Amino acid sequence: MAKRDYYEVLGVIKTASDQEIKQAYRKLALKYHPDKNKGNKESEEMFKEATEAYEVLRDPKKRASYDKFGHEGVGGFDNFGKGAYSDFSDIFGNVDLGDIFEGFFGSSGGRGRSQRTRRGSDLQYDMTITLEEAASGSEVQIEIPRSEACDTCGGTGSSTKTKPAVCPTCNGMGQVRQTQGFFSITQTCPRCRGEGKIVTSPCKTCNGSGLTKKKRTITVKIPAGVESGSRLKISGEGEQAPNDGITGDLYVVLHIKKHPNFDRHGNDILSVIDVSYPTVCLGGEIEVPTIYGNKVKMKLPPGTENGQVFRLKGNGIPYLGSYGKGDQLVKINIQVPKKLSSRQKELLKEFAKLSGDGHAGDDFY
Ligand SMILES: [Zn+2]
Ligand SMILES: [Zn+2]
Repeated sequence: MAKRDYYEVLGVIKTASDQEIKQAYRKLALKYHPDKNKGNKESEEMFKEATEAYEVLRDPKKRASYDKFGHEGVGGFDNFGKGAYSDFSDIFGNVDLGDIFEGFFGSSGGRGRSQRTRRGSDLQYDMTITLEEAASGSEVQIEIPRSEACDTCGGTGSSTKTKPAVCPTCNGMGQVRQTQGFFSITQTCPRCRGEGKIVTSPCKTCNGSGLTKKKRTITVKIPAGVESGSRLKISGEGEQAPNDGITGDLYVVLHIKKHPNFDRHGNDILSVIDVSYPTVCLGGEIEVPTIYGNKVKMKLPPGTENGQVFRLKGNGIPYLGSYGKGDQLVKINIQVPKKLSSRQKELLKEFAKLSGDGHAGDDFY
């Protein structure tokens, strides 16, 4: 099998700097390391290939020779890998083993203080709103308890309001290294628990955490058209992190209350309206209440049936983040009069007679 070009293997250009080559190799070594891909032949091959390429390109002499003569110029590497990894420390040379192996040994250290910033937790708030609020949108004020920077120490956690001291055990790295055989294993520093800093005289208000619980009133803007289960993200309104860390986010989860008169079906609103018997027979104009609090006039044709549904265009729920609204579906419910005057009875009997129903109302009451 033809050997692949070493630069190609590492995915770098021919003029790549030592640093770029090192970084590219670290990435590949982390991805294809046998400890991470147990029994996966393909990963093992990739790992060997990358390690071989790195072994050559990291060495200026070997690299120059490779650039000039190709694989011929750096012979003797074809058998690489036969001796398993007995030569590990040599192969990795001055690569930071801690960085490469932290992922395999489950140490939670991260990559050292300089690249790590603490982030406050995200918060979730469940809010119940009315269907009217979902339809029109609204602004609601909520009160949430959350961690904020301690006023006494300005979030430093120190009674002297000074920034915490660098941890002497790990020199601020948050990690300590232990050597075991070929490997050196990086672990979270036990003294500062990975913070890289220690507070020598802790603030009494917050016990050195730099944070205190506070109740905050936050205005939540509910956009028109939200659904039950909609989640609003309010950036930077979650819990704060100590020492100028990144503040978490607040998520507001909406729940819409059932409405006594309006049923929501997607963006349509279904409502039932009572209509008198003469109106459905003769036709006429009725007034229909909408979810927006106003009334809309609607014309019924003569002979409207019970249960018939009419559509009022554009009187439903707005499409969230878009234009337009759903419709209001109006279902007719014919009102049967329960109490009739003698004159009304008389007229109805006459109506019944004309309709060929001469016995209506006879002798029952
Ligand atoms: Zn404090
Ligand atoms: Zn430490």
